[in-house]
Amino acid sequence: MLNPTDLGSNYFYEVSLNDIKDDRLAVKLSVFGIKTEEAVFNFPRIVPGIYGAMDFGRNIVHFQAFSGNDTLPVERTGTNSWKIHMAYKINEIRYEVDDGWEVFGSGVQEGFYRSAESSFTKDKVFVINNNTLFGYFSGGEKWPVYVSFEKPADFFAATSLENRSKNPQKDDFFAKNYRDLVDNPILYTRPDTVNLHIGNTLVTVACYADSGRKLAAEIGRKIGPLMEHQRAYLGGTLPVDRYTFLFYHTSHSKPGEYTGDGLEHSASTLCLLNSQTDSSLLDRFVYGIASHEFFHVITPLTVHSEEIEDYDFLAPRMSQHLWLYEGMTEYTTMHMPIKEGLEPVEDFLLEIQRKALHMKQFDNSIPLTELSRAAMDRQDQYYNFYLKGALVCLCLDIRLRELSEGKYGTQELMRDLSRRYGPDKPFKDAELFDVITSMTFPEIRTFFRDYVEGSEPLPLEQFLSKAGVRFDAKRNTAALAPDATPQQLQLRKWWIGS
Ligand SMILES: [Zn+2]
Repeated sequence: MLNPTDLGSNYFYEVSLNDIKDDRLAVKLSVFGIKTEEAVFNFPRIVPGIYGAMDFGRNIVHFQAFSGNDTLPVERTGTNSWKIHMAYKINEIRYEVDDGWEVFGSGVQEGFYRSAESSFTKDKVFVINNNTLFGYFSGGEKWPVYVSFEKPADFFAATSLENRSKNPQKDDFFAKNYRDLVDNPILYTRPDTVNLHIGNTLVTVACYADSGRKLAAEIGRKIGPLMEHQRAYLGGTLPVDRYTFLFYHTSHSKPGEYTGDGLEHSASTLCLLNSQTDSSLLDRFVYGIASHEFFHVITPLTVHSEEIEDYDFLAPRMSQHLWLYEGMTEYTTMHMPIKEGLEPVEDFLLEIQRKALHMKQFDNSIPLTELSRAAMDRQDQYYNFYLKGALVCLCLDIRLRELSEGKYGTQELMRDLSRRYGPDKPFKDAELFDVITSMTFPEIRTFFRDYVEGSEPLPLEQFLSKAGVRFDAKRNTAALAPDATPQQLQLRKWWIGS
């Protein structure tokens, strides 16, 4: 591995959206000050938020390194990596990039995350995931990145990246390092945007629809109130100053059929949808995506382990805490509407039944910590984090409320974890259960040992009964217990407010 101080210290990238040839964009990187004989330039094999290898280097062609007008010897050492010899002479790298998909439609290939890929449609729309267009040197993951896009003057770049250009035909973005660049996708198209002020957070909704319909205002009206409730649920403040929803829609005319894909980032979410152009359907989809993805600002975006903080784009080490990143986010998504009084208890109970039923299709004997570490190889079991993962967090919430006599639940736990850790302050993967135990009750260590690290069947019936909910595992029914004791009613009130 190269010592980063032996290499240059900034990336200066240039791309023109006006010059697209054979569906490819040409990228130019200026580099200075590399002092080593060899340097290795890479594209990610995988990016945060997805759990399957994508090999983004596969879309790169005509890779060349230059010293003035001379080309330098380059060896492609794998799908994603190029070794450059006489690297101390480099001042420029050039290559071309193909997009990952053309038009978003049905026909999903398993394990192919389109929301992590780019798509170019000349004069119409560019979905840019920076991990597909730009690479990094081994050892140079922390260098600042400058990216300059030439563009049609009537195109607008929706992104949470900082734009330093005042020129309508050019954007100059800055990212503090490569990970930050990858964390901020860009949607380039003719503007259809609205801005919402949610507390101290500026939220931008930016849309592209192949039908030509303007969607941003309608989507803003739908998710504005949702985000206000999310803010209230999180204790009144959101952990980001700026947030961007990037929304890409292609239409078809088959009733009831739709295909969607979404990927969350620290300050944005990219949503892709192929459906009928029907308002209620769009509303439902966007609402569903926004309600889950936005809660990721808490975890893993604020609360995460070192495995995520020092992300290795070629061979990531997997954290054991997907039960938290996806399970808690999904639990929060189902708990917020009942806790904030937005939905009747029956809807909440239906969601519990639905998750408990679907969970049966998965192998629940694999401990969640083990499944998390093996997430890339166990794609077949991954969805269980949204089912068992969420229900484990539900039981944890009830247990915490019980032990604290109502004062403390997962809401307070996530608030306290956000204060203790942060976007630049990860936790140690092996220590999290002990830390949470020290913040709460000794009994919580047993809870984690049994149901998260262990393979004890989750006694949903028993936990729900503490809160006066009768769950019949055989028939998979959940209902309020008519004979609930005052203690059970009290715990239920603490837990869901009704
Ligand atoms: Zn998620």
